[in-house]
Amino acid sequence: MLDFLRKFLPKTDRPAPSAAGARGGFNYSGGPLFGPWDPSVHAAPGQYARFGRAAARPLSVFSKGGERTKVLDCDAKAGAVKVQGRLDRVYTVSLDRCTCPDFQERGLPCKHIYALAAFLGYTPADYWASWLDVACADGVIPRPASGYSNGVFRYDVRGVNPETGRKNKRTVSACGEEDAVAAAREIGLADPVEVLPLDMAAQNMHPVSERQKAFAAEYQVTFAPDFDEKDAGAVLSRYDREDATGIPVGLLQFVTGKRLRVSLLSSAWDLSFLLFEKLSPRDVLALYAASVRLFDAGSSLVDAPTDPVDAVCYAFSDASAGAEWASELSPRELLQPVKGSPAYRAARSFLRSHAG
Ligand SMILES: [Zn+2]
Repeated sequence: MLDFLRKFLPKTDRPAPSAAGARGGFNYSGGPLFGPWDPSVHAAPGQYARFGRAAARPLSVFSKGGERTKVLDCDAKAGAVKVQGRLDRVYTVSLDRCTCPDFQERGLPCKHIYALAAFLGYTPADYWASWLDVACADGVIPRPASGYSNGVFRYDVRGVNPETGRKNKRTVSACGEEDAVAAAREIGLADPVEVLPLDMAAQNMHPVSERQKAFAAEYQVTFAPDFDEKDAGAVLSRYDREDATGIPVGLLQFVTGKRLRVSLLSSAWDLSFLLFEKLSPRDVLALYAASVRLFDAGSSLVDAPTDPVDAVCYAFSDASAGAEWASELSPRELLQPVKGSPAYRAARSFLRSHAG
């Protein structure tokens, strides 16, 4: 059991599930709870990767050609199944324990437990609901008003145009009404600034498309009722690539700080492309500096628990404006700096000479 994982252990005295349940002989609590765990367990470091693997390789009694983890035996009385995992190893799994090395080491839900839970009705929406509850409770990410967005919305604002003295109506992106007033002032509107009622139809949110629904059926994915096209796209692209990287919380914080609206389900990969397209070159370079600093410390942008970009990163960005190598950076390098490249060398030597 790794020490930093202890805080995710059960907080309640909820009884362990009994073996006498409705589906397949199991007692499945449904919704975000399963096994003896508090829902916060799903937000523990490394859990998303395990959930992602389980989602990409579901337990299936209909398994073909070793494509999916095979169910060998269902022992309803014991509330356990025997599954055949990688390299043909056989594990016994229930919602509160598993015989695989991962569970033995961590004592937290492994991919087999997630796969079993999913087999019994646990959905990606349940997982994300738990994840969001924890993330929002910690104040890391604002609770979205709708869908799994990072809480950035479009607001219509009205203020005085200082040049004409007339009232002007503009649209801004902001994290709440107070922020919308600030954003309005930033684009030159003078007081009194007024925020008009939020119109969801103006949020650029679109329903899940028929094409996405067809893919979802193929992947056996269930969407949350309030998913929009962007959320569905983010989830499907992860399934498509079997992308089970952790959710990039620090990166999301940075993005939110820039008032960019994304789906909370976006993978680091999707985010890196979006950032390249939407951020100013100055912001991209600052983020690159943060990435190099984390990389040198044996970590990465994806694993940063808080916004990793600070004043030193921007100092690097300002010092590098116009550098030839800057135009050759790619979204991939933003996440994974290429050791020895001109950009990497420039960032590294700058960070070294400006280390706290
Ligand atoms: Zn396991």
